[in-house]
Amino acid sequence: MYNINGLNEECGVFAISNNQDALRLTYYGLHSLQHRGQEAAGITFTQSDYFETIKGRGLVADVLTDEVINAYKTRNAIGHVRYATAGGLGISNVQPFSFKFFDECLALAHNGHIGNAKDLKKELENHGSVFSSTSDSELLIHLLRHEQGAFIDRLKNSLNKLDGSFAYVLMHDSGLYGIRDRHGIRPLSIAQLDDYSYVISSESCAYSVIGAKFVRDVLPGEIVRINDGQIESYFYHDECSENLCLMEYVYFSRPDSTIDGTNVHYARKLCGKLLARQLPVEADIVIGVPDSSISAAIGYAEEAGIPYEIGLIKNKYVGRTFIQPTPELREKGVRMKLSANEAIVKDKRVIMIDDSIVRGTTSKRIVQLLKEAGAKEVHVRIASPAIKYPCYYGVDISTYDELISSSLNEQELCQFIKADSLSFLELTSLKKALLEIKYQDQLEHENRYCSACFNCQYITNLYDALEHLNKNKQEL
Ligand code: SF4
Repeated sequence: MYNINGLNEECGVFAISNNQDALRLTYYGLHSLQHRGQEAAGITFTQSDYFETIKGRGLVADVLTDEVINAYKTRNAIGHVRYATAGGLGISNVQPFSFKFFDECLALAHNGHIGNAKDLKKELENHGSVFSSTSDSELLIHLLRHEQGAFIDRLKNSLNKLDGSFAYVLMHDSGLYGIRDRHGIRPLSIAQLDDYSYVISSESCAYSVIGAKFVRDVLPGEIVRINDGQIESYFYHDECSENLCLMEYVYFSRPDSTIDGTNVHYARKLCGKLLARQLPVEADIVIGVPDSSISAAIGYAEEAGIPYEIGLIKNKYVGRTFIQPTPELREKGVRMKLSANEAIVKDKRVIMIDDSIVRGTTSKRIVQLLKEAGAKEVHVRIASPAIKYPCYYGVDISTYDELISSSLNEQELCQFIKADSLSFLELTSLKKALLEIKYQDQLEHENRYCSACFNCQYITNLYDALEHLNKNKQEL
């Protein structure tokens, strides 16, 4: 309901250690990560000898009110914003998950997806575990309880049993932990507030709002432990690789975030430039579909020497409780989320830049909007490759039915959305753009991203999902 593109990230995580304003700062941090999940939010924080949790469905501001924040004093907290796919929408699946055992308190929040969750859960239940949710995120707590010894060893052993994508923030009596899967599929980084206070976040955009200074990314396979103003680093696996989700740069992350050394706005802008080089077209103006395509549109316009204009306006206030128009009103043209700027597009040949196409229905509607507003031609340029395969790493594109590019080629899709022309950025160009920024060279780092939804090259074993993938392939 919130994004106009049909793609949703599953979650964002945030944590803070040793700060007297921990609750309020977590609220601000989560607010900055709101784009990563709008269905539920929650926070767990330390009290004298237990962890307190406040969570619920809705936006951060709906769940964490001023009243809640003023009612408690704490110095350590973890938080979560959620978009649900794995596990469903019930309140029992809202994170963080927090448990008080006879000998320790444990709480965690997770972004990602555990591929071997079903097998692990079965095994754990056979050994007496009782799960409080249907979410795969809870698994780590139960795995930890089945391990013996020092906490860091229990943690390493437990993480070694998980296969999939994960960025965790975890709170334990022994400290605050940030953990990233050994392929680095989902992002996570650390920042410093003062000499003794650190924060961990899915995205660095959460740091400037609270005045924290970025320290570094958590590395693939790394466990970062923060305790008493010190950072300790451990690795749970010997074989790690850099395979960050390409869609973090294309669509999910905020343009002011820098992930694994690459600023998101800068990456998108460079993609726009490559798009202009790869797919030039004669036109009067370049416009971007707000918000995530603006950076690429600016890059395209700059490279092509064609003016960039605001041709589409997004109404930011269409939210969860917005009364949807009836089918009749929709027919009459009541379009609440996006409007064409008629004064700008009328009688113009327009290049419309979008970040991606999922179902195709949104692109079709936007082309129609622009034509109704008097655009002479609409040339659609997509600043990413065609998404053809499901994602099993924490993004809600899990069936082929949702992906129009899995059944239509570029020409057929162009006809479907009724554009004058349509082209996608090539995968090699997208990787080249990112590698140029990060390494100033390309070849030896070619495979350093997850691009499975574009080329079907999955990073991990797919377990149950493999059957799903093959079944869907056959049905096409
Ligand atoms: S499959 Fe696509 S959306 Fe999923 S993690 Fe990989 S690049 Fe990201």
